[in-house]
Amino acid sequence: LATLAVAPPASAAALPYQDPALPVATRVADLMSRLTLDEKLGQMTQAERASVSNSDITQYRLGSVLSGGGSAPGSNNATGWADMTDGFQNAALATPLGIPLLYGADAVHGHNNVVGATIFPHNIGLGATRDPDLVQQIGRAVAEEVTATGVDWDFAPCLCVARNDRWGRTYESFGEKPELVGSMATIVTGLQGSSLGGTASVLATAKHYLGDGGTTNGTDQGNTQLSEAELRAIHLPPFQAAIQRGVGSVMISYSSWNGSKLHGNQYLITTVLKGELGFSGIVVSDWNGIDQIDGATGMSATDVRSAVNAGIDMVMVPTAWKSFIDLLRAEVNAGRVSTSRIDDAVRRILTKKFELGLFERPLADRSFLATFGGSAHRALARQAVAKSQVVLKNAGNVLPIAPSGGKIFVAGRHADNIGLQSGGWTVSWQGASGNTTPGTTILQGIRNTVGSGATVTYNASGSGIDSSYRVAIAVVGEQPYAEGQGDRPSGMGLDSTDLNTLTTLRNAGVPVVVVLVSGRPLDIASQLGNWNGLVAAWLPGTEGQGVADVLFGAVQPTGKLPMTWMSSASQQPINDGDGKTPLFAYGYGLSYGAPADTTPPSAPGTPTASNVTASSATLSWAASTDNVGVSGYEVVRVQGTGETVLASSATATATLTGLSASTAYTFAVYAKDAAGNRSTRSGTVNVATSPSADGYPPTVPANLAASNVTSSGATLTWTASTDDT
Ligand code: BGC
Repeated sequence: LATLAVAPPASAAALPYQDPALPVATRVADLMSRLTLDEKLGQMTQAERASVSNSDITQYRLGSVLSGGGSAPGSNNATGWADMTDGFQNAALATPLGIPLLYGADAVHGHNNVVGATIFPHNIGLGATRDPDLVQQIGRAVAEEVTATGVDWDFAPCLCVARNDRWGRTYESFGEKPELVGSMATIVTGLQGSSLGGTASVLATAKHYLGDGGTTNGTDQGNTQLSEAELRAIHLPPFQAAIQRGVGSVMISYSSWNGSKLHGNQYLITTVLKGELGFSGIVVSDWNGIDQIDGATGMSATDVRSAVNAGIDMVMVPTAWKSFIDLLRAEVNAGRVSTSRIDDAVRRILTKKFELGLFERPLADRSFLATFGGSAHRALARQAVAKSQVVLKNAGNVLPIAPSGGKIFVAGRHADNIGLQSGGWTVSWQGASGNTTPGTTILQGIRNTVGSGATVTYNASGSGIDSSYRVAIAVVGEQPYAEGQGDRPSGMGLDSTDLNTLTTLRNAGVPVVVVLVSGRPLDIASQLGNWNGLVAAWLPGTEGQGVADVLFGAVQPTGKLPMTWMSSASQQPINDGDGKTPLFAYGYGLSYGAPADTTPPSAPGTPTASNVTASSATLSWAASTDNVGVSGYEVVRVQGTGETVLASSATATATLTGLSASTAYTFAVYAKDAAGNRSTRSGTVNVATSPSADGYPPTVPANLAASNVTSSGATLTWTASTDDT
C-alpha cells in the first residue's frame, strides 16, 4: 500500500499547447486545431458572474466572466473575490482542454469594486498631476491589488478625450487634449508590466474606441459628429500611444460616429485599429453594446453578425450569453460570418491567455493579498492626491493655512465622507455617499495635520461659525454618479445645500477657502468673488490626507487644469484654443511661491569708511553672498552691548548724516531677507569725527580766488573745508 500511494509525478506537458517551452504561436495553433466550432464560440463569449454558474462555464466552454460595476461576491473583500474567481476558474479548468478563462472587472481607480482596496484619484485628477511616471506607478499598484483577487483583465484605462463637461464620464478622462491623455498611456505599462506574463501582470483595456468623449452635448452613448480628420486628430492618438505600449485589449464605445454605432463599424475596428494601427490584441464589446447596432431593443442576428464581422473578438453579453452563442452559430453555419473571422477572434483571445501565463498560473496569486489596501499603495495614492490638487484662487495668500494657532472651521457634506470624495465606480457602480470603504476623509486629514496646534470644528452646514474663527474651509461639490446618470444637460453649478453652507460661512466674516470635490469643472463664476481661496480636488479617492497636505502647505501645489474651466455653463463645450473666454484656462494652477527662507543671509563684508566729515560719513561693504530674498542692509551703531539702527540701504553702501563732531563711532552692518531674518552682523569699523583723531583726509576747500596781485605778490582766498581743518 505504501508503495502504491506514491504516484509518479505528473508527466510534463502531454500536448504541445500545454508545453510552456514552446512559442506562444505554436501553442495557439495546436490548441486551435483541437477546438470545435462551439468551443470557439464559447471562447468568444463573456458572461456576467451573477448570470452564470460553474456548470455553465464548463458546459459552454465560456472564454471569460466579468464582474460588472459593483457586482461582487457576498463577502466583498479581497479574499472573497479570490475565492470567487478561483471557483469560476476551476470550472473552466474542468473542461477537456482545460482552457483557463479571463476574469474581467473595472478597476478604474484602484480595484474599486472591492471593499478595502486603495482608491486612487479618478483619471481627471491624475491628468492634473501631469505626471506620467506617477500614473505608471499607480498602474503597478492597481495590478498588484487586482492580481491578489484572481482578476486577469482590467477594463482600464479609459482613454477618452472629454470635450464637453456635461458628459457624466468626464472624470474618467485624463483631460481634454489628445496629447495629455496619450501621455498617461503609461498606466498600460503599469498594469501589464513591461510584458504580459510577468509579476502581477494584468491585461489592460484601452477604452472606449472611438470618440466616446466627443458626443454632441456630451450625451453618454451619444453621437460624435466629426470629420474623419477631426476624429483622428482628437480621439485616435491616445489609442496609438496605448498600442505602442502593447495594450492587450481595446473596448468598443457605445457611441456613434456620424450616426452609425461604433460596435458595427468595420472600417474603424478592422481597417484602422487592427490594420493600420497593427493592434494584435482582443477587441471586446461593451456591456450589451452590440444590441444597439440595429437600433432595435435587444440582441438580434443582425447585431451579432455586424459586431463580429466588424472585428469584435470577445462579446460582453452579460445575461443573454446563451442567445449570443446560438445566434452566432447560426450566422456561421449560414456563411454570413466566416470561419476565418471566428478563428481570428479565437486566436487573439488564446494568444493573450498564453501570454499572460494563465495556462501555467490560472488561479489568484494570493501572495499579493499582503499588499491589498496596504500602506505602500495608500502612500502612493496620497502623493497622487496632493499632486492632483489645483489651486485656482488664493486671494491675500490665504493658502497655505497655518496649521497652528486659533480656531479653524470645516464645513460641507464632502468634508467627512469617503463615498462622496471617491465618486462613481466605488464599491457600487454609481458610487454612494457614506462610509463605503476604509480610508481617510479630508476632515480627518485636516485634523491629522493640525494635531493639537489648533482647534478644528466641523459642521456640515456651517452652523456654529462666528468671527472668532481664523478661516473656514468648505468642502463641497457633486454627489457620486457614473455613466448614464452623470450627464448634466442643463445647469452645472453647486446645489442649494452647498450654496447655503457657503453663504453661512461668508456671513461670518471670516476668510473662506473652498475645496471643490467634483468630477469636472463646475459653473462657479458668480460665487468666486465671495471666496478667498479655491482648490479643485477632483475625486481624490480614499486618501483625503493628500488634500490637507496641500491646504496646509506640507506639499506645494503643482496641479494644472486638465480641462478648460467654463465662465458659464452656456459655454459648453469649451476647450483650449476655441476662442471662448474661460474662467480659468487649460493648464492654469497656482503655486504658493518659494517657501519662506528661514535661513538668515550670510554676513556682509566688514565696512570701510570714506568722506568722513564732522557730521557725516560714507560706509561701504562687500555684499552678502546670500542674495536670495535679501531685502536690504541695516547699518547699526555699536555702543557696548547696545545697537542703534542708523540707516537702511538696498545696496552695499550707505551715507550717514547727522553725526556729531568730535565723536568716535563704531559701525557694523546686517543683511536681511524677505522674511526679516538678519545675518550675523559684519565686522566693525571705527570712525572718529574729530579733526585730530580721525585719520581721514579733510574735504576739499572751495572757491579759490586771487586778489591784490602785484608783480611780486598776491592774496588767495577760499571757502574753508567743512571737515576737520
Ligand atoms: C461601461 C464600461 C465598462 C463595462 C463593464 C459599461 O457599462 O461603459 O466602461 O467597462 O460596463 O462594466
